[in-house]
Amino acid sequence: MSSGSFVEVPKDLLKEIKRLEELFTVDTAKLKQITDHFVNELEKGLSKEGGTIPMNPTWVMSFPTGYETGTYLALDMGGTNLRVCQITLTEQKSEFDIIQSKYRMPEELKTGVAEDLWEYIAECLLQFIQTHHGDVAKLDKIPLGFTFSYPATQNYIDEGILQRWTKGFDIDGVEGRNVVPMFEKAIQERGVPIKLTALINDTTGTLIASAYTDTKMKIGCIFGTGCNAAYMEDCGSIPKLAHLNLPPDTPMAINCEWGAFDNEHKVLPRTPYDESIDTDSPRPGQQAFEKMIAGLYLGEIFRLIMVDLHDNHNVNIFAGQDIGKLRRPYTLDSSFLSAIEDDPFENLSETRELFQNQLGIDPNPSELELIRRAAELIGTRAARLSACGVAAISKKKGYKECHVGADGSVFNKYPHFKKRGAAALREILDWPAKADPNDDDPIEILAAEDGSGVGAALIAALTMERVKEGNM
Ligand code: BGC
Ligand code: MG
Repeated sequence: MSSGSFVEVPKDLLKEIKRLEELFTVDTAKLKQITDHFVNELEKGLSKEGGTIPMNPTWVMSFPTGYETGTYLALDMGGTNLRVCQITLTEQKSEFDIIQSKYRMPEELKTGVAEDLWEYIAECLLQFIQTHHGDVAKLDKIPLGFTFSYPATQNYIDEGILQRWTKGFDIDGVEGRNVVPMFEKAIQERGVPIKLTALINDTTGTLIASAYTDTKMKIGCIFGTGCNAAYMEDCGSIPKLAHLNLPPDTPMAINCEWGAFDNEHKVLPRTPYDESIDTDSPRPGQQAFEKMIAGLYLGEIFRLIMVDLHDNHNVNIFAGQDIGKLRRPYTLDSSFLSAIEDDPFENLSETRELFQNQLGIDPNPSELELIRRAAELIGTRAARLSACGVAAISKKKGYKECHVGADGSVFNKYPHFKKRGAAALREILDWPAKADPNDDDPIEILAAEDGSGVGAALIAALTMERVKEGNM
């Protein structure tokens, strides 16, 4: 075992650990096979016929120069929080000031009715503006970039027809409709002085915000509650936009929505646990790739393994203990796995406490070994699979050297995620061994700038500039 056992694990449990290792290990050959399929799927998504990955044109049509200026609001509706920001792009190149407030996204809103969602969002915006500007009646409309991090069809930058909810959201009457008028209605009813200038995806925001300070940035990724990426394409390579006759070298940021990769289950090494996550999700058959990688699901994969080993396979873990809490779906989030992988102690005493406190279960030393190993396997698989997406975009675009800006709780907080992802990228792209361990990799995945805040503001600024110039 890679973590080095501190106890003699009984044979039957070892056998189960082996079985998990076989299920969850993705070797180099498999990574390469997944990446090649991924490249094809990226192409297909851009074709007239379309494919599984949406590859949504976003109408973000340039990188920032660093000289953008002005004050903008940004609204970030992610999977977990709602955030309102005011961003001032200052006269100094690539500099900005930001003030922000975070609001909890009430769990019941995620599966409630649409009006409640828009009302809640409008209330948060109103409160923010009142706090920072006072009487709203006296204000001119402030331009807003709305980061709506779900797959959306955009014929214009200020339109977003929701293709489908992801990340566990399930609100009736929104899919297939443009969310902008719904949002604007709630805003107008409260007299919130804003003008929605751009609707953006968090990945596009991440790409643009990162490129604002680092011109080597070519791809923006989110590894958080959900998982996705955006990059800049040339319109000439987007057959599904051919009817618009845009000059072929016109840039167009593409929100890949790669969470949908392999929805038809051709290459991903899915386990029975992944199948069970999918079946019991609000949208079975969708987001196959995301469900193996994103923070929303990592803890749940782990929980399913534990319950399975308790109930089946004749190993009878946690024997004689009440596992009632463990049986509750989605009780463990990815921070639970992070904590297990972060346990610095040889005897895994922190992991034991975690189980005692959160689940009322007291694992024995062999079970602790199993727990640690299961967490490692899930976390490693997620990091390695995500590298396939980055490798695929790089291959498609012919990027030999670039920076990839990444954000999200899994990327920023999950132990070893970056290192494991970088190792996988190296295997997929066959880079020679480094001469010096401190040398940079040709393609590096780095912590991004705040895409949903600063990125949204920049995109609002770029959009206003483009409108002023009379280009679309
Ligand atoms: C959404 C994407 C988003 C990603 C990361 C996915 O579930 O479909 O639009 O970029 O999560 O937030
Ligand atoms: Mg976010």
